[in-house]
Amino acid sequence: MRDPTHLTQAADWRARSLRHVWHPCTQMKRQATLPLLALSHGTGPWLVDMDGRRYLDAISSWWVNLFGHADARINAAVADQLTRLPHAMLAGCTHAPAVQLAERLSALTGAALGHCFYASDGASAVEIALKMSFHAWRNLGHKHKREFVSVRHGYHGETLGALGVTDVALFRDAYGPLLRHAHVVDSPDARNAQAGEDAEAVARRAAAGLQALLEDRHAHIAAVIVEPLVQCAAGMAMHHPAYLRQVRELCDQYQVHLIADEIAVGCGRTGSFFACEQAGIWPDLMTLSKGISGGTLPLSLVLSSDAIHDAFYDDSVARGFLHSHSYTGNPLACRAALATLDIFDADDVLARNAGRAAVLDAALAPLHSHRAVRHMRRAGMIWAFDVQADAGFGQRYASAALTRGLLLRPIGNTVYLMPPYILDDGTAAWLAHETLATLDDALEAP
Ligand SMILES: *Cc1c(COP(=O)(O)O)cnc(C)c1O
Repeated sequence: MRDPTHLTQAADWRARSLRHVWHPCTQMKRQATLPLLALSHGTGPWLVDMDGRRYLDAISSWWVNLFGHADARINAAVADQLTRLPHAMLAGCTHAPAVQLAERLSALTGAALGHCFYASDGASAVEIALKMSFHAWRNLGHKHKREFVSVRHGYHGETLGALGVTDVALFRDAYGPLLRHAHVVDSPDARNAQAGEDAEAVARRAAAGLQALLEDRHAHIAAVIVEPLVQCAAGMAMHHPAYLRQVRELCDQYQVHLIADEIAVGCGRTGSFFACEQAGIWPDLMTLSKGISGGTLPLSLVLSSDAIHDAFYDDSVARGFLHSHSYTGNPLACRAALATLDIFDADDVLARNAGRAAVLDAALAPLHSHRAVRHMRRAGMIWAFDVQADAGFGQRYASAALTRGLLLRPIGNTVYLMPPYILDDGTAAWLAHETLATLDDALEAP
């Protein structure tokens, strides 16, 4: 039932939010005229607002929410941990959740990445990986290796160090004078194919560009940072796994670390638990966040090879890795992550996702022949297509989707779906139908 009191309540929360909450990545003056969901609760793939209206969270709340909102198993683990130890510092102390999570993640890499350094958000994990790479080289006597290489349109977070390896003009340019800019190499984005090229040829061409840079600068370069298989924030730019194999080879050849930023693509999003697995390679450092806690608590981490860890192992404190956060290794967040890994095992999530993907593929098939759609693509549980339309299209699409009870936020003119891993066939069919109907709404609107 929707009664007028509730309607007033939702409007009231919106107004109070706009007065006192500074929303992320938002021009607050513009937000006043755009939809702002005043949420009451979440259940499964649905978010419910204060008026009782529900919205299918088809982007997993910025790609974090793997198993729907308020998942009972994750909640039970967090609740249990709350009664034992909500938090303790990780310097001079340890606890079972931090140890078990590090052990299990190391095992998932087949012991290729045997050490786990904890933080709270993705950008911090990227900062940690950059500092580790630089400091490991310095400890090994290569003090000139202090530059980084990133990929065109890459995104690695918005703190100053992470922004230095991020190539998204909107986020980077405003703060350009504060940054140490990385070398930027061509993206292997398969959409860059020239006449006669397939995705693998684009990957080869991009890797050749990296080789030329490394040939010239390797004595000064500490690490190359990549988003394996999908550059998500760039607009779900997808590439052939051959690119990762070639980057791995080049990094070995030129003595440069490879940092795989799996913050968005890890945790099963591209079909394997880690995206790197599809290329058959391991990086020297890997960052994880977003889905690792199932979308319940802030947690990020950096997995490192034994070789990097051992470069710090010494009698000298100054040669240790000098980095910490107050909430490093938070037990609640680690328990949420352990519960998330348990769900992958108990529900055979990767295999089931392959089935879910086939259902959505079939339901979204009409998009392939839609007059305005270009580059319909998928990697695992990420679907994306580009729309030929004016610059206002993305905002119109997002608003029209909300009207239909669908939470989708296109990136530029790229519409993407990153649903939680729990959609049943009926919900998937509804999602596909509304995605298509919204497209026609947004194209027809003035
Ligand atoms: C989201 C994201 C980050 C930053 O994570 P935050 O938690 O938002 O700081 C870094 N790298 C990639 C690839 C991401 O998608």
